[in-house]
Amino acid sequence: MSPDRAVLERAIERGEQEGGSVEFKERLTKDLHATEGRFESLAAQLRHRVLSGDGEATYVVGVTDDGSLAGIGPETFSESMDVLSLLAEEAGAHIDDVETWGVDGDTATKGASGTDGIVGVATVREGAVMSDDEHIVVGTAGHVDHGKSTLVGSLVTGDADDGEGGTRSFLDVQPHEVERGLSADLSYGVYGFDDDGPVRMDNPHRKSDRARVVEEADRLVSFVDTVGHEPWLRTTIRGLVGQKLDYGLLTVAADDGPTKTTREHLGILLATDLPTMVAITKADLVDEERLREVEREVERLLREVGKTPLRVERHGVDAAMEEISETVVPVLTTSAVTMDGLGQLDELFKRLPKTAGSDRAGEGFTMYVDRTYNVTGVGAVASGTIRSGTVEAGDELLIGPMQDGTFREVEVRSIEMHYHRVDEAQAGRIVGIALKGIAEVDIDRGMVLVPREADPEPVREFEAEVMVLNHPTRIGEGYEPVVHIETVSEAAAFYPEGGQLLPGDSGETRVRFKFHPYYVEEGQRFVFREGRSKGVGTVTDVRPVE
Ligand code: GDP
Ligand code: MG
Repeated sequence: MSPDRAVLERAIERGEQEGGSVEFKERLTKDLHATEGRFESLAAQLRHRVLSGDGEATYVVGVTDDGSLAGIGPETFSESMDVLSLLAEEAGAHIDDVETWGVDGDTATKGASGTDGIVGVATVREGAVMSDDEHIVVGTAGHVDHGKSTLVGSLVTGDADDGEGGTRSFLDVQPHEVERGLSADLSYGVYGFDDDGPVRMDNPHRKSDRARVVEEADRLVSFVDTVGHEPWLRTTIRGLVGQKLDYGLLTVAADDGPTKTTREHLGILLATDLPTMVAITKADLVDEERLREVEREVERLLREVGKTPLRVERHGVDAAMEEISETVVPVLTTSAVTMDGLGQLDELFKRLPKTAGSDRAGEGFTMYVDRTYNVTGVGAVASGTIRSGTVEAGDELLIGPMQDGTFREVEVRSIEMHYHRVDEAQAGRIVGIALKGIAEVDIDRGMVLVPREADPEPVREFEAEVMVLNHPTRIGEGYEPVVHIETVSEAAAFYPEGGQLLPGDSGETRVRFKFHPYYVEEGQRFVFREGRSKGVGTVTDVRPVE
């Protein structure tokens, strides 16, 4: 039995029980189940299931009451999810995750197509779907042990740390969570604000506690780990570049001061144009003199990469609020032990506006493909975060470039957001777009969707301004790192101007994708990496394929 299948088997084995959190449904249809009376009783049943499961219920759809795998058509499955999300909304809950299997007779195979039907397991959680506009996502970074998890832990709980890892343990992201790669899984702490002030967790371990915060708060702040976990750097870089973060938060421990890693992480945060703040942590461990010294080191580091530090202690939270930008970086001094500086962070997180996507809603539509699915009967679905503009069902788009550099004409069949069908979606939203005119096998991660009139050119080679963050020796002609740009991850060869780039240096280089052209625009930021070496860059000039 595949591990994937285990989820389904387990749900079926647990079965439907009086007072349990598992519910079997063969299907849910608008005509039958969304009618008056029936709808309310189903919503009450869902509420009951969620409460029984301490904030989480499991709906197995496509099975009969006794748990045999009936399988339903994809359109019916999709409609069932629509109805389920309406029921969840009515019951003050939301669909958090859906997994599906194709059914063939009575065996189920994950992601199979061309089979008789689908069964699916939907996880329903307490609390409304976070309204994207009142939810800011903060990407944390910093040298290991420089107090990231502790700072986040103390912010979300309001409890001081004991200096021995007291607040952080529950927040350490598990590798499998990172690998699953979705925003919710990368998030390792959340808290919020309502009219009276912060809404915090008592115990971040408990899912129901998290659900309570999500429900009570009018505004949410969630923390996502970015570059801190070296073994998963590839995933986390993708997390950083492919996901819409609003702010970066870099920690620097007052005792150690900035390290090489600090410098690298700062470079990566800034490479994505994220407005960033620096928290000097563990202020309680050092004397005033050392603190001033570290503050100066941090300020120097920021100036070196072309940023203007703004010391919050001196200029105040209002100034930080107004000035924070791609160029101005507020610096705060904090201690999770004495809770110094955490009030200032609360104040900032309570008031800082959402930045992701919002400024690009008026531009032409672009979305880089992050993942693809094949849904039986519906066809190819491309998912990703809308980078700019708006997309509507029925829109005629281009997707590509294909291996030969061409773009393919496609049409938007439907758009799904949070497992809910929508007519349109705009910049910053994570969506699945079902496409007419292409098969899933022809779509690859890193391709882009743009309007027909965009007349896109495939790019095999471009000029870039790069900064080498960490490399043992000089970088010469033909250096071949993997370039991460939007959702593209591809080997590329560098041809530096003047033949070489030195560690810690900035310079111009030509970059040539080894295998494939992509859609690349001037001004786009990217990260490159090869073994232990890393760097960041900006596209300065694109050259279409000859
Ligand atoms: P991370 O690796 O960046 O997530 O660092 P952790 O949050 O795990 O912190 C590493 C260690 O530093 C833990 O033992 C914490 O208790 C300790 N620590 C974190 N913040 C502070 C602080 O403000 N003061 C003191 N004294 N210790 C701290
Ligand atoms: Mg940690």
